[in-house]
Amino acid sequence: RAKKVSKSDYQFYSIELDHAAELRIEQEAAIANALKDSEFIPYYQPVVNAQSFLLEKLEMLARWHHGGKIKGPESFISIAEEANLIDKVSYQLLFQALMDFSGWLVKMPKLVLSVNISVSQLVEPQFMATVLMLLDKNNIPPSNIEIEITESSLASNLDVMKKALIEIQRRGISIAIDDFGTGYSSLSYLKDLNFDTIKVDQKFVADLNENRKKGELALVIVNMAKSLHVNCVAEGVESQEQAKILAEAGCQQLQGYYFSRPKSKLDIDSIITAGLRINQSRTLL
Ligand code: C2E
Ligand code: MG
Ligand code: MG
Ligand code: MG
Repeated sequence: RAKKVSKSDYQFYSIELDHAAELRIEQEAAIANALKDSEFIPYYQPVVNAQSFLLEKLEMLARWHHGGKIKGPESFISIAEEANLIDKVSYQLLFQALMDFSGWLVKMPKLVLSVNISVSQLVEPQFMATVLMLLDKNNIPPSNIEIEITESSLASNLDVMKKALIEIQRRGISIAIDDFGTGYSSLSYLKDLNFDTIKVDQKFVADLNENRKKGELALVIVNMAKSLHVNCVAEGVESQEQAKILAEAGCQQLQGYYFSRPKSKLDIDSIITAGLRINQSRTLL
């Protein structure tokens, strides 16, 4: 149906655009202010061994503490990326996180810290130098660090990404493919990139409840990881049944609200001091 466009439509359209631009400028200014006031705080979600439920890894997840509220990454990561502020946000988070983590390593020398990284940072040479400098400053071996990149980010940047990933691994840092199964990318990159971990997206884990057929996809990914001899982590595990199915299928590590939500530094301090299984009330499978 052809639509007659009138002059007032154009005006309306341009007013809408102005509003969008204004909002964007406000949001960017808010992030710049948050940086100044050090409002970006790392939270950590435990990743456990699928057999023992012992803590093996912590995934750093960005949070913004503002006006008594805690905001999640969906409210600022993409804006920070577009405003070219993601480096600064990331630096603020990593500076704190690597300090926290070096303390935890004293008690648990094999603990791994997993960090989500935007593509724009990965392909930026200065980024790696900064990370290595912070690791060195905090006496953290690179082998205790894993970098997570989303599968969807690989599709459009394969060649540049490949170079960056090889360089990261050469330094001893591991690579995980995050949100695996949602990226619509060709499976051929799997043999091309020599990554260490596959993270099964929580969408497939959620399907493990309803019907067997839909849930099969999670198990296909677990088996693929097995065939490729890479470590497998299932995200978004919310029930004992899901944990049991995934562990029996051979997934090595589990993460999700069933075990723990993302927690503050102080909460992780007490988990590590106690040295216990994550979520004592849960029976082993
Ligand atoms: P992700 O890396 O896939 O992280 C998992 C997300 O799922 C987290 O959301 C986590 O809180 C949530 N989650 C964990 N277990 C469960 C569960 O059992 N059920 C449900 N429903 N959700 C669960 P969050 O913290 O909101 O992070 C969202 C995304 O933002 C992350 O997805 C990651 O891609 C991105 N992100 C987080 N921190 C950073 C960062 O510092 N830098 C960059 N570039 N991206 C980040
Ligand atoms: Mg992640
Ligand atoms: Mg994920
Ligand atoms: Mg995700």
